[in-house]
Amino acid sequence: MSKFDWLREELKNLREQGLYVTIRRLQSQQGPWVIVDGKKVLNMCSNNYLGLASHPRIKEAAIRAILDYGVGAGAVRTIAGTMELHIILEEKLARFKRREAAIVFQSGYNANLGALGALGWGRKDLIFISEELNHASIIDAIRLAGSPKLIYRHLDMQDLKNKLEEAKDYKIKVIVTDGVFSMDGDLAPLPEIVELAERYNAIVYVDDAHGEGVLGDHGRGIVDYYHLHGRVDLEMGTLSKAFGVIGGYVAGDADVIEFLRQRGRPFLFSSALNPPDVAAAIAAVDILEESDELVRKLWRNTEILQKGLKDAGFDLGNTKHPITPVMLYNEKLAQEFSKRLFDEYNIFAQAIVYPTVPRGKARIRLEPSAAHSEQDMKYVVDAFVELGRKTGFLK
Ligand SMILES: *Cc1c(COP(=O)(O)O)cnc(C)c1O
Repeated sequence: MSKFDWLREELKNLREQGLYVTIRRLQSQQGPWVIVDGKKVLNMCSNNYLGLASHPRIKEAAIRAILDYGVGAGAVRTIAGTMELHIILEEKLARFKRREAAIVFQSGYNANLGALGALGWGRKDLIFISEELNHASIIDAIRLAGSPKLIYRHLDMQDLKNKLEEAKDYKIKVIVTDGVFSMDGDLAPLPEIVELAERYNAIVYVDDAHGEGVLGDHGRGIVDYYHLHGRVDLEMGTLSKAFGVIGGYVAGDADVIEFLRQRGRPFLFSSALNPPDVAAAIAAVDILEESDELVRKLWRNTEILQKGLKDAGFDLGNTKHPITPVMLYNEKLAQEFSKRLFDEYNIFAQAIVYPTVPRGKARIRLEPSAAHSEQDMKYVVDAFVELGRKTGFLK
């Protein structure tokens, strides 16, 4: 008997149910081609949409920040951890999002925890109305907030309306939604959400983790994409996906952001982002402000990939985004596809299966980037067609 027999038992169950996560080892920097488990493969599963994670100008900015400011911020933001770099980043992010102010957290996860936690704070006159497929960090954040909640069905505006009716007697109503849903690449119908919110006097909070750097003018995100400036109350984002670094933020009206500085728990109780990360994020925002070339390249690659796969007969669901779910439906087939792509075609692409997506909706999720070449995209399409025929999936 040991103290952890219960835990070994659970690990065994995970393995038996096919839910055990195998973690591959990356032996190079992030990029279109990477070394994984000793082998050079085409990387189709990172969120590094613009290739900024290894961009020379961003690396340079991080190195310079280490020389000027050192490697650690030394404290939480409210004690001695706020460096001028943090303030510069927040000002640049606010400008990029066309908002009055922004607050930076250590990650997107922390940004949701900080912001939603601060809004709720156990208030019983506030209710969260949350999308069914929202990211785990939103689910955790609402749990931490400790206020009542209602869940509305995925993209279902009639159901959102019903929930707003149900929540009528609460003084404060907060609609929370992902902008882009990460497993399908479909978009929240933000114009309709905003209209309902205005009718019911609800706050709108959008998690734009997969939208920024991808959607809208110069990658300003989903609010810009739908031309909804001034009508969405809070926009949360991450610096770890298209921006290629680490960190998260929330942008909005100055007084609301000031409130988050007073009440955001990860802001108050966890040390500030490191200087090189902050400097790298500043360089990423600068690159996007200066040019939309990378965003356009990302979309060109997306078009080649998605058109090629669709023409070959693959079902890509309802994606409106570079996130490309190649539907294989069957869990075993999806796992086999992913393994054979790696072994036979040197393509690194993940199978997404239950419980991340419903049973019978297994898929390979591809994520193209601006750093890929058009040749890379054609190579992926050809590999899918060949493997699709070999496995009997494509007739
Ligand atoms: C990735 C992601 C997050 C978390 O961001 P991190 O910076 O990785 O912590 C939050 N929300 C959504 C929708 C995401 O996709």
